[in-house]
Amino acid sequence: MTLTIGVDIGGTKILAGVVDEKGKILDSVKVSTPEDSDQTADAIAEAVRKVRGDHEIGAVGLGAAGFIDADRATVLFAPNVSWVNEPLKTRIEERVGLPVVVENDANAAAWGEAKFGAAAGHDDVIVLTVGTGIGGGLILGGALYRGRFGIGGEPGHYRVVPDGRPCGCGNRGCFEQYASGSALVRAARERAAAAPGKAKDLLALGDGSVEGIQGSHITEAARAGDTIALAAFHEIADWLGQGMSDMAALLDPSAFVLAGGVSEAGDLLRAPAAEAYRRKLAGAGHRPYAQVLTATLGPDAGLIGAADLARL
Ligand SMILES: [Zn+2]
Repeated sequence: MTLTIGVDIGGTKILAGVVDEKGKILDSVKVSTPEDSDQTADAIAEAVRKVRGDHEIGAVGLGAAGFIDADRATVLFAPNVSWVNEPLKTRIEERVGLPVVVENDANAAAWGEAKFGAAAGHDDVIVLTVGTGIGGGLILGGALYRGRFGIGGEPGHYRVVPDGRPCGCGNRGCFEQYASGSALVRAARERAAAAPGKAKDLLALGDGSVEGIQGSHITEAARAGDTIALAAFHEIADWLGQGMSDMAALLDPSAFVLAGGVSEAGDLLRAPAAEAYRRKLAGAGHRPYAQVLTATLGPDAGLIGAADLARL
């Protein structure tokens, strides 16, 4: 049994774990992400050393936000950590004396869910991480698909509405502007502003203002059957279904996995998204449907996936 260490490098904390070949976490530690990105490599190395203990470790996999080169060695660009062409593999290998690979964090999490989580047993999987934006990962033919330059599998920024809502990436009409957690909040606030009387239960969960409506309030209200909260879920689920049907036209997966913070709403999101996918799919009724699943590994997916990718 070869053990590896997976590391999930987040904006506020670095999570490291010793993981076995079945995706089980044997030990884990958490350290704070330093404010100064020059110190991040030291903090990662510290986390690896702490969690390593007496374990016999074969390799280390790092999951980092940003564009990772196809050699799995260099972070080309990381918007949140101010890294540009950061040789992260070399920096960590020097510090811990173990072979290191670097993966995009969303790809690592997608790999974890596809191999050990919701889509275990599937070889063709699209993972959509529905949070503030939409991230994701593609597993095709049993392998993680990274693209020629290492930056594939980013569904959040394909354009679904020409000249649509402005996006942080500089374009307009991107998928994540319509189907993410931010879009869910926007949908609920718009409905509450238009009909404050109908929204009083939802408004009461926050500070009473439309701007005070947060994602967690919408989930809570939807669970209680609130019509405005349910309508907001249906709106983003419809967009997710549209996106999944378009992705299926191109890639024909056997499973989609909905991951990320919004997926914690479970069937409030999954059921209407699956229904919309089946309704919008090209050739619906005359072809097999992919399963639409909810992620099961939660915040551990990235660490587990990065550890496993370090073996490959
Ligand atoms: Zn965009």
